[in-house]
Amino acid sequence: MALKRLPGRIGRPPVRVAALPKKAESFYQSAEWRAYRAAHKAETVRRQGGVWCSVCGSRHKLVLDHVVERRDGGADFPPHEGAKWYCGGCHNAKTARARLARVSEAKR
Ligand SMILES: [Zn+2]
Repeated sequence: MALKRLPGRIGRPPVRVAALPKKAESFYQSAEWRAYRAAHKAETVRRQGGVWCSVCGSRHKLVLDHVVERRDGGADFPPHEGAKWYCGGCHNAKTARARLARVSEAKR
């Protein structure tokens, strides 16, 4: 029987940790979105004097969110009212609701 030959080298070079495959440039990382978000923030400050969660008023971990999600046909860069600031918690809740709605829509 043929023993499988194993590389017998001692002190092999350390296994290189392969760089993670580069994800397709996410929309939310794009320069366009960053610019839109910055402009939206400035406009929000101009209108109401600050930026806070549109649901609960928190200023913690704010994210700018599409009122109509892009995957539901919303514009990438909607007019001011088409995007709202959410705190992390409210954003997660909204995202979950949208996902649920999408799933139940698909079941019909
Ligand atoms: Zn909130």
